[in-house]
Amino acid sequence: MPKIDIAALDPEKTVVVATGNAHKVTEIEAILAPVMPGVTFYALGELGDFPDPVENGDTFAENAVIKAQAASEQTGLPAVADDSGLVVDALSGEPGIMSARWAGVHGDDARNNAKLMREMEGVADDERTARFHSSVVLLYPDGSCVTGEGDCEGTIGHEPRGEHGFGYDPLFWPADTPGRTMAELEPAEKNAISHRAHALADLARQLA
Ligand code: IMP
Repeated sequence: MPKIDIAALDPEKTVVVATGNAHKVTEIEAILAPVMPGVTFYALGELGDFPDPVENGDTFAENAVIKAQAASEQTGLPAVADDSGLVVDALSGEPGIMSARWAGVHGDDARNNAKLMREMEGVADDERTARFHSSVVLLYPDGSCVTGEGDCEGTIGHEPRGEHGFGYDPLFWPADTPGRTMAELEPAEKNAISHRAHALADLARQLA
């Protein structure tokens, strides 16, 4: 049962965040709220149980638009959505938009990381450059949208290290935090340098 009556919400003063990840809702709201005064942010799940759209775009930005479009059509409200992943230079940009399901099972971080270690076997240290990329889209019911893009540069390690974070964090050494993998950073440290933070800041700059 939806907790909030969508019909009672003012589309001029409401944004729906198209993610099931409560962490992301908090992060998105923290960065966008100051440039969208008077707007209340709701997670899509607070407004109802909606099916996930098929993410069949060719780029992170296209997939973010697909997610935002679905949420906006489902609710009649402006919607913000993000899509992100790991881009490895030595693997011609893989896993890229396939990041979540690279090893075959959606969201299986252990298998994805095992595959990454396998694929990177024998790759020299100076060729292990990579970046996390994030595209964030704010889409209005009339179809117009604003897109923010962000990267977090780094290199791919040889074995997993660290307990924080998720996804490929244990194998990713951010250039901004020498000597520690992304999974060895406290959440606040990661939020300060992450691709998502940079993409949201890019979006916020355009809205300001
Ligand atoms: P999503 O678009 O944020 O759901 O991310 C898709 C996939 O990209 C995730 O399942 C992870 O495998 C990878 N990914 C995205 N952001 C991160 C991150 O901050 N750390 C580690 N992996 C990430």
